[in-house]
Amino acid sequence: MAHPIPSLTQLQLPPVEEYRKRKVALISGITGQDGSYLTELLMEKGYDVHGIIRRSSSFNTGRLHHLYEDQHERPTKFKLHYGDLSDSTNLVYIIAQVKPTEVYNLGAQSHVKVSFEMAEYTGDVDGLGTLRLLDAIRTCGLENHVRFYQASTSELYGKVVETPQSETTPFYPRSPYGVAKLYAYWIVVNYREAYGMYACNGILFNHESPRRGRTFVTRKITRAAADIKLGKQSCLYLGNIDARRDWGHARDYVEGMWMMLQQEKPDDFVLASGETHPVREFVEKSFNYAGIQLKWEGSGEEEHAIDVQTKKVVVRVDSRYFRPAEVELLHGNPAKAEKALGWKRRVDFDSLVKEMVDADLKAAASLVEDQN
Ligand code: NDP
Ligand code: GDP
Repeated sequence: MAHPIPSLTQLQLPPVEEYRKRKVALISGITGQDGSYLTELLMEKGYDVHGIIRRSSSFNTGRLHHLYEDQHERPTKFKLHYGDLSDSTNLVYIIAQVKPTEVYNLGAQSHVKVSFEMAEYTGDVDGLGTLRLLDAIRTCGLENHVRFYQASTSELYGKVVETPQSETTPFYPRSPYGVAKLYAYWIVVNYREAYGMYACNGILFNHESPRRGRTFVTRKITRAAADIKLGKQSCLYLGNIDARRDWGHARDYVEGMWMMLQQEKPDDFVLASGETHPVREFVEKSFNYAGIQLKWEGSGEEEHAIDVQTKKVVVRVDSRYFRPAEVELLHGNPAKAEKALGWKRRVDFDSLVKEMVDADLKAAASLVEDQN
């Protein structure tokens, strides 16, 4: 039987125009929030979708479960490959095997607070990992065949220099995560200029959904609002509730990623809602929607909120969740993407909160039922 991994000398590539008629996407970070929405979108558009997943001792494909069919029953247009952004050889093998037309680099250690505790790892995966994937494409001789999307971030702006933040705002990252993503941003620009690669940075402001990781602030809040409402949790502990973010829905943002790779020329784009809200407002709206009215009391690290009806403390500030350096304000200007790509976010702030709380109320209620 032939070995499943072709050696590079055996790679037979048709001319670029012919190669690009195929629609084959490769996604790193496919098991994450954005990876799952992007997979849905690309499959709807008729792509073969390949994803890189990490070997894990526990189940890590929950967000993809609804898309995955048993490969033994019938071959599907959706395939997962074991790999890691820290393993160059593996990336070369996957690219050689898949021969993608579009590569979406969404894989990352994506949590800002964790990046202070795992700074070197974050730099390796989020920064150098991007270089490894770009070089894997070049090693396979596919630099003119493949379009590359890089998951850049509003965390690049960090300390406020100007608002709203756009493609021309200077960067000033405030965390090992932001600094690692800065390297990734520039290596994408550099490979575009040096080797003529079609490579784009999507500078995405925070985007959320019911599939958002549970340790990011929005999901932590909506889960707690649901669990407290159903009596499964007594109090939510948070860090800096005065930080402001520009929040949108992940489903809208993955569409923008795809749009960036369909242009005539590669470029970098901000995707944002154009609004900014404090974490405090996200808390109030979530609890309110879950049926709990809050009243804030105290100040600074003593600040807390009580449930107006039960008079119990249901939200407390806890300094454990403060960061060594904070990004106080993010507020994006998506005008360039709106004009050049025709992109527009569909889900507004209130609808996002409602969708997330509804999903967490439903999940919490079904768990309560299971236990009864
Ligand atoms: P998630 O944290 O939900 O997903 C991250 C993905 O990266 C997961 O599939 C994870 O795998 C994978 N991953 C982690 N480490 C590695 C590694 N060493 N090698 C390969 N894959 C790895 O993030 P999101 O979906 O929310 O975000 C997608 C991308 O967009 C990330 O790069 C993030 O930094 C960036 N971004 C996100 C924003 C947001 O608001 N959501 C805003 C701007 C940028 P596993 O499931 O096994 O952990
Ligand atoms: P980030 O913008 O990528 O860091 O996304 P997060 O959702 O992790 O954090 C958004 C903001 O919420 C940051 O300013 C955090 O400091 C703030 N925040 C306040 N309390 C918490 C908390 O308990 N967890 C997290 N993750 N963030 C918090």
